[in-house]
Formats: sequence, C-alpha cells, structure tokens
Amino acid sequence: MATSGPPVDPDPRPHLNLVFIGHVDAGKSTTCGNIMYLSGLVDERTIEKYQKEAKAKNRDSWFLAYLMDTGEEERTKGITIEVGRTAFETSNRRYTILDAPGHKNYVVNMIAGAAQADVGVLLISARKGEFETGFERGGQTREHAMLAKTLGISRLVVAVNKMDDPSVEWRQERFTDICEKLKPFLRSAGYRTTSEDDVIFIPVSGLQGDNLKEPPTDPRAQWVIEKNLPTLFSTLDSTKLPPRNPDAPLRIPLLESFKEMGVMVTGKIEQGRVQIGTPCVIQPTNMKTEILSIYIEDTEVNYALPGENVRLKLKDVEEDQIHRGFVLSSVVDPCPVVAEFEADVLIVELLEHRPIISAGYSCVFHCHTVMEEVIVTRLIESTDLATKKKTPKPRFVKSGAFVKFRLQLQNSACLEPYTATPQMGRFTLRDEGKTVAIGKITAIIPNGKPYGGRDNTANLEA
Ligand code: GDP
Repeated sequence: MATSGPPVDPDPRPHLNLVFIGHVDAGKSTTCGNIMYLSGLVDERTIEKYQKEAKAKNRDSWFLAYLMDTGEEERTKGITIEVGRTAFETSNRRYTILDAPGHKNYVVNMIAGAAQADVGVLLISARKGEFETGFERGGQTREHAMLAKTLGISRLVVAVNKMDDPSVEWRQERFTDICEKLKPFLRSAGYRTTSEDDVIFIPVSGLQGDNLKEPPTDPRAQWVIEKNLPTLFSTLDSTKLPPRNPDAPLRIPLLESFKEMGVMVTGKIEQGRVQIGTPCVIQPTNMKTEILSIYIEDTEVNYALPGENVRLKLKDVEEDQIHRGFVLSSVVDPCPVVAEFEADVLIVELLEHRPIISAGYSCVFHCHTVMEEVIVTRLIESTDLATKKKTPKPRFVKSGAFVKFRLQLQNSACLEPYTATPQMGRFTLRDEGKTVAIGKITAIIPNGKPYGGRDNTANLEA
C-alpha cells in the first residue's frame, strides 16, 4: 500500500469528499463505477471479469456497480452496504467518493459517510414510477437530502439519472418536471434552490456514462448540449470550496483504528493541520500521542491540511484505546469533552407511537463520527415557525416544532458549539432507526454553566 521513499509534500490541488445519496436503486453504485471507469481507474480486464460475473447471475447491467460493491452479500442482493471509498481526479481537483448506501436499514452508514463529505451528489431515478416512489412515504430521497444538509453538506449536485431509460428517452420535459418537483423538497431541507452555490441540476445516464465526464453522445440528448448544461465532472470542478481553517486548533474526528506496523487511525481533518512529529491528544480519554507518519491515499506526506482524509500512524497508543467518535486534537487547545449541552432543534417527524417529546425522552444522537444515547432533560423554549411566537418552558413538543433543548449524553463525547466548529456541532436525533430531529449545538455545559465557545471559523481560507 504505502509508497517507499521519504514523505513528500501533499498534492496542492484542493481535495473534496463526495457522497452519493438517494433512494435505493437510483443508480449510485452504477454511476460511481462508471466514474471510475471513465477516469481510467479500471482496466479492461477487470471490467470483463465483472461483466462475466454479473452475466453469470443474470444481472448484466450490474457490472459497473460491482466495482463499488465488493462484499459477496452485496453482490447477491445488489445493495451497497458498507460505505465504499474510491478516489479520482481532474486536472484541478482531487476527489474521494464515499458511495453511501441507499437501503433503509443502512442509513447509519450513510451518516458516517456523509459526516465527512463536502459535496453531495443526489441521484434521482428519472425512470417512470421510480422517481415517484423515491418521494412517497418510506422513500428516502427527502430524508437523505435533509440528513445531508444537517451533516454539513451545503452543496448538492442533483443528478437526474437513467435519462436513457425507455420510459424517459432523454426527454427534456421529464428532466424539467423532475427538477421542479424536487425544488420544494430541497428547500424544506434547507437548500436555496435559486442559488447555483447550493444546488445544481444535471441530467445524466450513469449506465451509459452520458454527461458524466463528457457531454452526452446520445442523439436524443442534443438539447443538453444546446442548453450548455454542464457535465457532472465540470459541475464538481466548479463548486465552491467549503470553508476550511488550517490555523484553528486541530480536530480530526476518528473513524477507525487498525494495526499496520504500529497503530493507524483514519479520519478527516476538519480544522487545523498535521505534521510529522506533532504532539496531539486523543479526546475524550486525554491520551497523549504523537504523529509518526501521515498518508493521503497511498502517499506518505510531510503534512496535511483541512479537508483531507488521512491515515495517521500514532505513537504510544493501542488499537483498542481508540474508538469511532474520538477526536484527535491539538494539545494546547483540545476538543471539549461534553456530557451536557444546549441545542436548537427542529423536530422533523416523530414516530407514530411516540408522537411527542417531553423531558425524559431518549433517542440516539449522531454528530460527526459520534453515536450515543441521549436524553432530553429540559425544554427551554419553543418557537412557532409561522408566527415566530415563543413559548418558554413548554411541557412537550410535536413534529414540526422548533425548540431549544438541554440534552444529556449517556457517555461524554467530543463536541463543539456550532459557531466554533460547524462540523462538530450539528447533529441528528434518531429513534428506532428513523431521523426524528436535526439540530445545532448552541452551548456546551462544562460545569453546569452554558459556554458558547470561541469562533474557530474566523480567518477562513477562501
Ligand atoms: P443504487 O442502489 O443506487 O446503488 O443503484 P444501482 O447502481 O445498483 O442501480 C440500480 C439499477 O438501476 C440497476 O439495475 C442498474 O443497472 C440500473 N441503472 C443505474 N443507472 C442507470 C442508468 O443510467 N440507466 C438505466 N437505464 N439504468 C440504470
């Protein structure tokens, strides 16, 4: 895996994490597989091998998806379970694709993937009937868009896929119609559909590879060229980079640890920078360590800046002392360890058999790579979003409410107020596997007193 020779300076092209989201069968795996193929990352032999394998199972069209879905169980079921990772590049940017799973039961993995993503590619199937089911009750399009927004993905590329399907035949009206139907949903998830900084719509065929890297060659798609619609690659290359601060205190929420000639950890640098020899502390356990080596993909580098997914070799720690949700931080300004906090929360949709939240309500809290049991201990104030009328100390709230809560975690976790480090201060609440609320941490409570935190987003890089 690792290159030999001395560490080098990292590639100066900006790095972006992409997450592919959307209803099951929208074409996420197929499209990601084709992106790899079109980027020249897959040789003909591998393609042939997968084509044969897919044919043997009477699933010819699945071969591209095989490139992303590696487990045997996934191949049989045709569903992406783990978040697959792969990298590709253009002349001015580097990308890592986190292929998020679309199946209902795998939303937790999708959260882990999306928590690290900068740009979301929302795949929508244009096939007759399929577009419609993605939105019905139980359809995941809306939930995914909302989760993406909460998890800090402020830029969304909506790829209207399967334009080649016989029920679509690259008809412009179908594309326009789908875009118009999607807009209110995206707006309700918090995206400004009138701003190309937030959302861009493009028509594609993930299977044929049309309008991914190059403009479509299908004659029925002539209008795409006439209207000068961008390809997926050019859209990605022109998206605005998220704010990143290399001078703020180091924060790397950790995803996993494993042994490989020493203990390695993986995670995305949310802020700050790492350098070989940097002393660090792992929170919440306050374990001192030092960075021995840094890898970006397979290259050993001297240093790494925010936005990079890195693998780090750490000094004096054991694999089992590190868990998902721990945060590698600066020694001088370590990440706060929090048991109690206040947050502004939007109640999205409560479970039918648990239709209200009052003090004592418990559910599962997801924030960056953290997943923890949480209890609502106090309802501080609710706001009627229509009239802006505030009610102090409501006894309970229902779906649709906007409310300030005090919450208590079962185990302390590394969190920050949203204004200090947005990626570590925005969260979702889930109950029995369903997203019930989204929120932002307004204050962490070290000794019973709320503390709003400093602003680490000052002096942001463009
Ligand atoms: P995922 O669940 O979102 O990862 O979807 P898959 O990539 O597994 O695709 C689901 C099904 O849709 C498969 O049968 C694909 O062959 C098919 N499919 C995906 N993309 C396209 C496309 O662009 N055109 C057509 N006609 N079919 C597609």
